[in-house]
Amino acid sequence: MTLTEKDLLAKVPTKLYINGDWVDGHGEGTIAVEDPATGKVLADIANANEKDGLLALSAASDAQESWAKVPPRERAEILRRTFELVKARSEEFAMLISLEMGKPLTEARGEVTYGNEFLRWFSEEAVRISGRYGSSPEGTGRMLVTQRPVGPAFAITPWNFPLAMATRKIGPAIAAGCTMVVKPAELTPLTTLLLVATLEEAGLPKGVVNVITTSTSAQTSAPIIADPRLRKITFTGSTAVGVKLLEQSAKQVLRTSMELGGNAPFLVFEDADIDAAVSGAMLAKLRNIGQACTAANRFIVHESLADEFAQKMAAQMEAMPLGRGVDPETKIGPVINEKARANLKRLVDATTSEGGKIVTGGNAVVGEGYFFQPTVLNDVKPGSTILNEEIFGPVAPIVRFKSEDEAIRLANDTEYGLVSYAYTQDLKRGLRLIERLDTGMTGLNTGLVSNAAAPFGGVKQSGLGREGGLEGIHEYLETKYVMIPDPSI
Ligand code: NAD
Repeated sequence: MTLTEKDLLAKVPTKLYINGDWVDGHGEGTIAVEDPATGKVLADIANANEKDGLLALSAASDAQESWAKVPPRERAEILRRTFELVKARSEEFAMLISLEMGKPLTEARGEVTYGNEFLRWFSEEAVRISGRYGSSPEGTGRMLVTQRPVGPAFAITPWNFPLAMATRKIGPAIAAGCTMVVKPAELTPLTTLLLVATLEEAGLPKGVVNVITTSTSAQTSAPIIADPRLRKITFTGSTAVGVKLLEQSAKQVLRTSMELGGNAPFLVFEDADIDAAVSGAMLAKLRNIGQACTAANRFIVHESLADEFAQKMAAQMEAMPLGRGVDPETKIGPVINEKARANLKRLVDATTSEGGKIVTGGNAVVGEGYFFQPTVLNDVKPGSTILNEEIFGPVAPIVRFKSEDEAIRLANDTEYGLVSYAYTQDLKRGLRLIERLDTGMTGLNTGLVSNAAAPFGGVKQSGLGREGGLEGIHEYLETKYVMIPDPSI
């Protein structure tokens, strides 16, 4: 039986999840969650205020001690059972992601596979938290090093990957033995609510994960961050908000993980396989309708290839049907809201006034929803406004370079440092680029780097810490060292 949108939405919880109960919020009214392809309301959900935030923290804090004592294997099995349930219901999750966020169904399926993988990966990591024991250098003592859960954590997630951004934090917290308060973005909270209902079904004890949805993020979050019971904050979102949260976290000296904004350079050298580079560029630019922190933001292309690259990208973009994500023909969905769309128009206009040329697109699409034409801008001048801001939409500015040094200088000329992409068939050049590009991640001859088994994260103002990989669980663990006198003395 095919699932209807109505049946799916009827399954999604609309309340806060605190201490194992689905409860109403004390905030004003409810939050209307919109379909960005139509502007119509999908669901009205509970609105939390400061009181609810602190109730959620109390639940997490009260559950912390007993949760930390649950054997790692049991914690792992809850994650594994959740992974199996999400997998069995992957079409439901994909449709929900597509409805609330707007991405095409094929991409939403990709997010379910990717996001769910964090649950499997961390179910495997839970039982591999290790320590060490050895002699002190002078031989008079024994040194024991062990790992303990950090304690109650507060997770704040963005709207662009409603499942993956939640599992990337909830997975390692559960594996490490931390309890959590999760605050999803008010624009796309439904997927997190369905995920938490699934964790509950898989046997997660009450209080371990609590979810608050709120239209007043700053006011509701501040008292949680100021409360001495909280020990960690993990945030994915914009650098501007990340900086505010770091300032607030400093007062309690909280452990922090920050996955912030990006301004990814995508370099194409004269020796690149241009068709492979164009395919990689389409993926790095248009995944999530350009609304990814890893989205290629600046195409830095050798002058001998720039025009061909621009034409080939434009031709592929023009052949991609725009539409509602849940429509099977759709290759590009809407951007998230009118504000995001107006920002794209502002950036395109700024680029043309600064000397760049439109190869294709350049305008909002008239009609229902928040669609923007996929756009290629060629001959963009170094220093242009668009090169200094996160575009967050289907707009590709192309800058030319003459030499490798110039390309690297242009690529590193940003306060961000999340990911870079480079296309070259010269192995030595590839290795030089890996060493010289100031980013936490590099895609060498590929337009996609995300993988649950890899340490995801940035340098400079793109953040602190890593999510996924062997590193991911350590964000939720503290090292404890014990000195013991030599037992034979
Ligand atoms: P945002 O910073 O506006 O919001 C992120 C989250 O923070 C939301 O849940 C929002 O409600 C909440 N928030 C906003 N102000 C707050 C405050 N003062 N106190 C507490 N919470 C607050 O970002 P967004 O628009 O949701 O997401 C887009 C941004 O996220 C982009 O900059 C993108 O690059 C970044 N991002 C980064 C990664 C990464 O892994 N590095 C991944 C995805 C998105």
